[in-house]
Amino acid sequence: MTLQRFRMCIHGEWVDARSGKTFESFDPALAEPWACLADADEVDVDLAVQSAQQAFESTAWRTLSATARGKLLRRLGDLIAENAEHLAQLESKDNGKLIRETRGQVNYLPEFFYYTAGLADKLEGTTLPLDKPDLFAYTQPQPLGVVAGIIPWNSPLYLAAIKLAPALAAGNTLVLKPSEHASATLLELARLVLEAGIPPGVVNVVTGYGPSTGAALTRHPLVRKIAFTGGTSTAQHVVRSSAENFAKLSLELGGKSPNIIFADADLDSAVNGAIAGIYAAAGQSCVAGSRLLVQDDIYDTFIERLINRAERIKIGNPQDESSEMGPMATAQQLAIVEQSVANALAEGACLRLGGKRPDTALKGWYYQPTLLECTSSDLTIMQEEVFGPVAAVIRFSTEAEALSLANDSRFGLAAGIWTRDLGRAHRLARDVRSGIIWVNTYRAVSAMAPIGGFGQSGYGRESGIDSVLAYTEPKTVWINLSQAPMPDPFIMR
Ligand code: NAD
Repeated sequence: MTLQRFRMCIHGEWVDARSGKTFESFDPALAEPWACLADADEVDVDLAVQSAQQAFESTAWRTLSATARGKLLRRLGDLIAENAEHLAQLESKDNGKLIRETRGQVNYLPEFFYYTAGLADKLEGTTLPLDKPDLFAYTQPQPLGVVAGIIPWNSPLYLAAIKLAPALAAGNTLVLKPSEHASATLLELARLVLEAGIPPGVVNVVTGYGPSTGAALTRHPLVRKIAFTGGTSTAQHVVRSSAENFAKLSLELGGKSPNIIFADADLDSAVNGAIAGIYAAAGQSCVAGSRLLVQDDIYDTFIERLINRAERIKIGNPQDESSEMGPMATAQQLAIVEQSVANALAEGACLRLGGKRPDTALKGWYYQPTLLECTSSDLTIMQEEVFGPVAAVIRFSTEAEALSLANDSRFGLAAGIWTRDLGRAHRLARDVRSGIIWVNTYRAVSAMAPIGGFGQSGYGRESGIDSVLAYTEPKTVWINLSQAPMPDPFIMR
């Protein structure tokens, strides 16, 4: 089979790695390689970062007004809309996500660019009400310089867009590093960036492995901010790298999000919410509602209805419009899922559904929707992220018990609350420790809504009105208004 060849984008040029090295990327639905990509080492990464630095200092970018940057972002949004079907198909092939999911994501993607474009020229400093009449001071938000965007495989375009749009709106330049498992769509995005008229070097994309390409990028001395999305243990490497040059950081990491179903909930919706939380995207979602907390009174009914629907989930090729669950994105991820289920059973969890690969002729890395009943929150399956279609369910009797179970986690990315009781919804929204709370819904996103986590789910927020500010540094400017000579130089003014 001929592999599709992709080159990196450095300073607007399509280049191979200087070393000539390449690596293969796999189609998860077929478990076979489909693409050949440049394997960048630190020489290539340095070229990309130098290119971004040069673009940052260039008059072509630096003197462009914020309004003009906004217009470029709008143009980029338009181009993404025009190329949406191509991008959706490509991402589905590359990471094995359902075409109906990637199409939905890509169709919404332009909104991130339009929303952020509108913010570009609304970044204002403040005049400071100084307590020193002879002095006048104001602040000015300034771009940081070169931003490194490190992207995982599960939603490359969306996770890159929420970094790219605000970083460009604020006047920064970027080097993006997609996952070695799904790089193709970010290279296509770089092509659209150039087509939109964004100057060469403002957005560069390097491809390669995390410990080599990714590490070379995150420890590069010219990188002023690292916007990282990925796993918690990778983040620890990234934080250490950032310490070398004091690069700013935002970390969007994993989760073990509780989806809490109360007896007074609309059960049809709650079943769909539970399915959306853990079986959509085959559970390969940072916000996966992988801990189901179900109230005693409805526990048996709810589990029966959940199993009934989950058993009918159509597992199939992600490019098939009727498929409801595709494969794991990598063979390694499938192995992690299998091991996590085996460990859970060994620790005493009870298998209610799935627990193995589907009995089909499908060649890819598929796994069945799985439900594990747990009697203790201490089980590893209740504490550790699996990143697969594996729900751990536990029962509770009171609201206080539900809250205590929900907060029994080192993560805090998302939570779902299913109830018709308004007071309870707001109490739990206040008390559950997580960055996103969905009441009677799950997995909703919007360009206007910040995302990010508490605890070991990371820090910093992406999306929303403050997203552009996160790519700036405030500068304080002091003006002496007095005509008198400078006073005593040995005391602070
Ligand atoms: P990962 O941590 O393995 O890889 C993420 C990125 O980091 C990849 O581009 C990888 O090449 C790079 N990388 C790996 N080692 C590196 C190193 N030493 N230095 C620099 N970069 C390095 O994550 P993954 O397996 O691609 O994605 C799954 C994880 O991402 C899950 O934990 C998931 O929860 C998380 N995630 C979080 C969010 C969010 O918004 N919070 C969204 C999607 C995924």
